[in-house]
Amino acid sequence: MQRVAVLGSTGSIGTNCLEVIGALPGQLSLRGVAARQSWQALGEQSRRFAPRYAVLEDSALRPTVPRDAFSPQTELLFGPDAVAQLASDPEVDVVVSSIVGAAGLAGTWAALEAGKRVCLANKETLVVAGPLVMDLARKNGVPLLPVDSEHSAIFQALQSGRPQEVRRIVLTASGGPFRGWTRDQLEQVTPEMALRHPNWKMGPKITIDSATLMNKALEVIEARWLFDLGPDQIEVVVHPQSIVHSFVEFVDGSVMAQLGPPDMKLPIQYALTFPERLDGPAPRLDWNRNMHLDFHPPDLETFPALALGFEVARKGGTCGAVLNAANERAVELFLQGQLRFVDIPRACRAVLDNHTFAARPSLGDLVHLDRWARDEVTRWNS
Ligand code: MG
Repeated sequence: MQRVAVLGSTGSIGTNCLEVIGALPGQLSLRGVAARQSWQALGEQSRRFAPRYAVLEDSALRPTVPRDAFSPQTELLFGPDAVAQLASDPEVDVVVSSIVGAAGLAGTWAALEAGKRVCLANKETLVVAGPLVMDLARKNGVPLLPVDSEHSAIFQALQSGRPQEVRRIVLTASGGPFRGWTRDQLEQVTPEMALRHPNWKMGPKITIDSATLMNKALEVIEARWLFDLGPDQIEVVVHPQSIVHSFVEFVDGSVMAQLGPPDMKLPIQYALTFPERLDGPAPRLDWNRNMHLDFHPPDLETFPALALGFEVARKGGTCGAVLNAANERAVELFLQGQLRFVDIPRACRAVLDNHTFAARPSLGDLVHLDRWARDEVTRWNS
């Protein structure tokens, strides 16, 4: 029995994760849930699963949240320290890290320091501090398992060879809602248009990232650190159906891919139960229906965010933290109607070019740069 803590339990990954835990009561139990502010949804989760802990990161909510919204068996805690406390609770075996953005780093870090298995849905953690996070995991001998569907696919495909036998990995990208569009057409994109993703139902931040292809850029950087690959060993191919979740090419030319419907329950379950494969709640492909799978190279000119991803994966150091923070701020401004869609990668480019590069930053340096890059985007846009 694995006792699970889910950080970011009310988001898209978090709710899917609770579906998986609910479907495998013999293997998984929910020890704690944490959310930033969504206390109603967190209360429902508490009443359904009766976990030992529920954490609201925003301590300003303490006076307003009614205790009876939660199960009497659940202890309700507030504040960022309580998130770290849950992540390092001695009765927790596995921590699912699914808080969106750089905000997810603290919980992931606390879990790794406490020696927990971490199922990582928060790609920003590795984009911001990949080498430091991987060092900590290695030092404490704890596995860091990918939940991101592409990285789960790579991780699954890697089981059929040795690390030194990998020639390259290829991440698939749906291409988002604006696949095939021209630069001129992209000038007109509104938040409403960008929030309509053709294949995946996800939160607003990652949906916008999918539309700019920044999501794939962040995934290239995530893969670089997670799988300890050279930047030239990572490629991206556009695959509009989102059935092939990524593939690995080995030195003999053999390509191993992982397929499934576009649904997060399988990658979540695989990370939670690895190395076991269990009959779980994930949907299946129907081979009695006609299906075709298309692949084509990405358009780096129209979607310059992806080119930024390759560049940052190559340079490393402080670049990941700067790109990530600049993008988070630019997306925020775009969703508020204050910055144009095409300006998201432009703002990121400008802030990256303006920052003082360091090859081996400390965690403190990265936290500082994160703040700086957000302010720079605001300045750039005004
Ligand atoms: Mg992904």
